[in-house]
Amino acid sequence: MRGALGGPGVLLRRLREVMAASISPQERLDRLVVLIAGNLVAEVCSVYVLREDGSLELYATEGLNREAVHLTTMRAGEGLVGLIASEAEPLALSDAQAHPSFSYRPETGEEVYRSFLGVPILRGGAVMGVLVIQNRASRLYSEEEVESLQTTAMLMAEMIAAGGLKSLAAPGASIGLDRPIHGIGVALADGVGLGHAVLHEPRVAITNLIAENPAAEVGRLEAAIGEMRASIDELVERGDVAHTGEHRDVLETFRMFAHDQGWLRRMREVVMTGLTAEAAVERVQSDTRAKMLRQTDPYLRERLHDLDDLANRLLRTLVGKANGVARENLPENAILVARSMGPAALLDYDRAHLRGLVLEEGGPTSHIAIVARALGIPAVGEVVNATALIEGGDAIIVDGQAGEVQIRPQPDVENAYKDKARLRARKQKQYQKLKELPAVTRDGVDITLQINAGLIVDMPNIEATAAAGIGLFRTELQFMVAQHMPTTAEQQALYAAVLEAAADLPVTFRTLDIGGDKVLPYMERVEEENPALGWRAIRIGLDKPRLLRAQVRAMLRAGAGRDLKIMLPMVATTDEFRRARMIIRREQVMLEKQGVTPPRDLRVGVMVEVPSLLFELPEIAREADFLSIGTNDLMQFLFAADRENKRVADRFDPLGVGPLRALRRIVEAAAETGCPVTVCGEMGGKPLETMALIGLGYRGFSMSAASIGPVKAMLRALDTAKLRERMDWMLASPEGVTNLRPQLAAFATEFKVPV
Ligand code: PEP
Ligand code: MG
Repeated sequence: MRGALGGPGVLLRRLREVMAASISPQERLDRLVVLIAGNLVAEVCSVYVLREDGSLELYATEGLNREAVHLTTMRAGEGLVGLIASEAEPLALSDAQAHPSFSYRPETGEEVYRSFLGVPILRGGAVMGVLVIQNRASRLYSEEEVESLQTTAMLMAEMIAAGGLKSLAAPGASIGLDRPIHGIGVALADGVGLGHAVLHEPRVAITNLIAENPAAEVGRLEAAIGEMRASIDELVERGDVAHTGEHRDVLETFRMFAHDQGWLRRMREVVMTGLTAEAAVERVQSDTRAKMLRQTDPYLRERLHDLDDLANRLLRTLVGKANGVARENLPENAILVARSMGPAALLDYDRAHLRGLVLEEGGPTSHIAIVARALGIPAVGEVVNATALIEGGDAIIVDGQAGEVQIRPQPDVENAYKDKARLRARKQKQYQKLKELPAVTRDGVDITLQINAGLIVDMPNIEATAAAGIGLFRTELQFMVAQHMPTTAEQQALYAAVLEAAADLPVTFRTLDIGGDKVLPYMERVEEENPALGWRAIRIGLDKPRLLRAQVRAMLRAGAGRDLKIMLPMVATTDEFRRARMIIRREQVMLEKQGVTPPRDLRVGVMVEVPSLLFELPEIAREADFLSIGTNDLMQFLFAADRENKRVADRFDPLGVGPLRALRRIVEAAAETGCPVTVCGEMGGKPLETMALIGLGYRGFSMSAASIGPVKAMLRALDTAKLRERMDWMLASPEGVTNLRPQLAAFATEFKVPV
């Protein structure tokens, strides 16, 4: 009979003895390959280890020419070994040489072996090497043998990760374990942060890999699965989803997977190979992660994510809570690393020690990104496999401007970033000096610079930037970071605190802009084909007036006796504005009847961000108390290009003649009726874009606090009359130029305007 001699449990126990023996690392590897070959009745067993340069080096062999050890290397993707490393999947062949990827290495003498079985050495889904067995005769390897070799590979992964093979690496050929990694992601929050990694959800450390008693391990696994299922069932059935902060859909999916027979069978099978229950869960999880990383279908990727989450729960049940760093006890210079994170979780950490944030998920408009920006924490999102590649304590650099992460950087890279950070600090100092100076152009035109905010943590930014107030307070952030729907009293308390912090400076509160991508975990989700074009913002407010009324009441009460500005998002017609204003009026009357002190002066304004409003400008400018342009949405809708979709988001330039002419119409219509107009989208906040907007006639902007310095530096060097003249000419497009960016940049260079 072919197959494992004495069963897989025996192999694991022998392997453990070899691991524990006090012998040199090379000797240990040599003995391991002999043991594996013997147990799996193979003539060859070889270990290839992934080097820092991405190639795979033969570290030990039984059966092939020993001289080839540490000499034979395969480049990434080369040969069968390279193929296994790049696919992260086992490969069993009864005629290896017939495979198109077979690559002949004369020094190994492997030409006489026909059958081949190779498995990736995986840890946390990352490939660390390849383990191979070969046989002379053509044979089919059984599932049990594949399983057994994978389990053995897991032990090797732990050995490599523990640094056991480091001393065997030749100079310049070090193992890809502590290798520096340059992670490319998406810029979420500007700034450069240097520090050491703290994993938001540390991996559960598994110390006991090999089972003493496999039957007992099956029992432990069954019990843990039962416990996990019960807790998920309870969460779903209690209906109290909000309380847990988990979305109902996620829990339903969890429940489905928790009963998934295929997944559970896989774990049972692995336990049967002789691993402990927790090691089995981790092995299956590592395979899942490897698949997840190579999965391009977003739906399947998401499902694999769910399975990964579930495996984490199971591990915690089996091993107990992971030993994390206490949130209040963060080390100095902490760089937080997480797969995903809710905004509330970020707020739980001690801001004073946080230098950066790295996420595997999370786009620029995600809630966590908004909070990171508010807190001034440099952040990068969509860094593939960050939590598997980064170990707690690793040196990390977060470049929130470029959207890049340097993991375990080389000293020269670190120095370059230190320089970059110093340069930024110097610039900040210069902006700091500008703080005391007025926002006036060279030719004496006053420009109003306000900041965008949404949380109480934003409020110190007014003082830090000497801003003229808050031009956009995104009230949905309170809703997004909360575990439950904020009560009217809670809303009122926030608005009162904001007004108090702003002292006598104006604050413009925007009513709830939810829906679309802004999903509240505790609100029933409406499935829509095109959520950005769907039931959102003022549309929800008009359809569910109770929600809008409660919010308006909270604002009116908080604004008792002082000036108050309320702004309505996503208004598409003047009629919508009228209906919303009617609701506000009714609330005013109600409060007056109750004897509540009304605001001294109430202004109700409109966000101009839906293109249909461009064709009702005379009406809306006459009736609204003020206009504020949401360029983020306006550009998305003008160009029909989803602001969340990386493929199209940056495809169209707001500095084209089309969008600039649209923006000019708005400022002209506002001037005709004397309606104040500002820009609160991200276009106003970028120096060159803001320069162009000033050239069109805009005089008021609301932007992120970090943009105030650069914009002020720009405008103080600007001659608006000259720019106006130049822009009128450009927009007439006498030479057929339709993108004005190069011309605007040339103007800035010519007149030494820093943009
Ligand atoms: C906008 O659309 O430009 C805007 C300011 O609002 P938000 O980014 O919150 O949609
Ligand atoms: Mg908007």
